[in-house]
Amino acid sequence: MGPKPHIGVVGSGISGLRCADILVQNGARVTILEARDRIGGRVHQNDLAGHLVDLGPNWIHGKGENPIMSIAEATQTVAHDPEGRNISISCDGQLVNEERATKSAEFVWTTIEQAFEYSNQHGDSIPSEQSLFDFIQEKLEKTDFSDEDKILCLDSCKLWGAYVGDPIERQSLRFFRLEECIDGNNYFVASTYQRILQHVAKTALAQANIRFKQPVMKVETPPKNEQEPNQNQVTVTTASGEIYKFDQLVITCPLGWLKRNTEAFEPQLPRRFLQAVNNISYGRLEKVFVKFPEAFWHSESTKTTQASKAQPTSPVFAQFLEPTYTSHPKDIQWNQECLSLSNLPSPCAQPTLLFYTYGPCGTNIVNQIADLDETSIEYKQILTNILEPFYSKLPGYDPSSPSCKPSSILATRWQLDPYAGNGSYCNFQIGLTAGDEDIEVLRSGDGLGAERGIWFAGEHTAPFVALGTTTGAYWSGERAAAQVCERLGLGSVGVESMRNDSLPSGSEK
Ligand SMILES: Cc1cc2nc3c(=O)[nH]c(=O)nc-3n(C[C@H](O)[C@H](O)[C@H](O)COP(=O)(O)OP(=O)(O)OC[C@H]3O[C@@H](n4cnc5c(N)ncnc54)[C@H](O)[C@@H]3O)c2cc1C
Repeated sequence: MGPKPHIGVVGSGISGLRCADILVQNGARVTILEARDRIGGRVHQNDLAGHLVDLGPNWIHGKGENPIMSIAEATQTVAHDPEGRNISISCDGQLVNEERATKSAEFVWTTIEQAFEYSNQHGDSIPSEQSLFDFIQEKLEKTDFSDEDKILCLDSCKLWGAYVGDPIERQSLRFFRLEECIDGNNYFVASTYQRILQHVAKTALAQANIRFKQPVMKVETPPKNEQEPNQNQVTVTTASGEIYKFDQLVITCPLGWLKRNTEAFEPQLPRRFLQAVNNISYGRLEKVFVKFPEAFWHSESTKTTQASKAQPTSPVFAQFLEPTYTSHPKDIQWNQECLSLSNLPSPCAQPTLLFYTYGPCGTNIVNQIADLDETSIEYKQILTNILEPFYSKLPGYDPSSPSCKPSSILATRWQLDPYAGNGSYCNFQIGLTAGDEDIEVLRSGDGLGAERGIWFAGEHTAPFVALGTTTGAYWSGERAAAQVCERLGLGSVGVESMRNDSLPSGSEK
């Protein structure tokens, strides 16, 4: 038994923390280099006037065989399936009647299912330029819907952009299958991801050396030592000038960071790896939380309930189709989707609307508030001006009522954050020809592990069913740790439940 191998992990998001956990359990000495002054990466909460909110993920995608769901259960995290009324506001700002809205929602979900199926079955024979939008248009043409209903359906489908982080006109149909998640419902993490993060971080916080405020700038590896092929000395330099030497290094920086920092590696990363980094896209999902003194959109339903003794009908989801009732930059889709957080189970409920913005619209909003302090009047005013045209269309809105004036507003700015890769998570856009191979190259590091002792983890290297998610990040950390353990002949404690990375996409749907 030699001395403990020293493994470096760059990043303390879910993937880095899980990776460190497995490495420590198998007897490695682990140092985590983290650019920020906190753990969690894209899993992060802020206080919104007395309520905690998740700035990054707040869904758990799929219940079946999902370690994040198991951790949620173990930590008494409240994960909630937000069922309830779904309303649509038409392009001219009118509430779409329930029957038409239901018809359009059914079309959206059926067609999305069909698109997954089509992408799974026909994969490589689908032209790389064909988009999800093209597929939806074709399906729509085959219906006997009126022209008006067709437009409604198409506009509703466009809001799928909020799932992938970019307009669906750019979503590759060929690789739409890589967007499919684990089977089962999606759960909103009502009590936030905080306890899940604490749970995942436990071993790393207790037994790894975590160095905060150490952005990695340079990763250097000497030529392989033929006498000792298992010994790699990876030299890492951080922005403050600290230099670390590791036996092996796991890099969990987001894909967006890799795209902008390929020159950080000396010698250069292999060509095929660089191609994969370039080929896979990085989405732009942003959130805006708008909190009110009370949930005014409930007031109408309360009246209805008292009068008719019917089920409460306050909206849970509201979709605002491409609006003509508010000015916005030309050529930018300005549709919005929001979720009411007042329907969450107690004590998580709060009178807040969570808006999801994506793609160029998200970028535009983020740029408008780029340099503003969150407590400034200007910040609040800009965001109110952008969103008031939307929330004012909700039932119960009264411009003269103080209940309808936002008390707090908070917007994310992931696109301005280099350590989040200036975006949200990976996605698969038209033009992509071998997306699944690209992901496999990112996971395998194209031989870099064996050659230079460098391994990669992070949501963009996850199993196909979990790309772009916290579950995928968690599994990717396990996988990278297992690769290092195998390489160094360490144990495999904690990795026995690990997912098989080579599952073809869609095989467990
Ligand atoms: C707005 C938004 C909404 C989302 N919604 C969901 C959702 O509902 N459900 C879901 O499952 N997923 C969601 N996601 C995706 C989810 O957040 C990610 O898949 C997951 O958190 C990624 O974890 P990670 O460890 O791969 O990366 P990260 O969490 O980004 O961790 C990487 C770490 O590396 C650090 N780092 C970066 N560069 C350097 C450097 N040079 N040196 C040192 N450290 C560095 C970062 O600071 C960070 O701590 C969302 C993401 C966003 C942004």
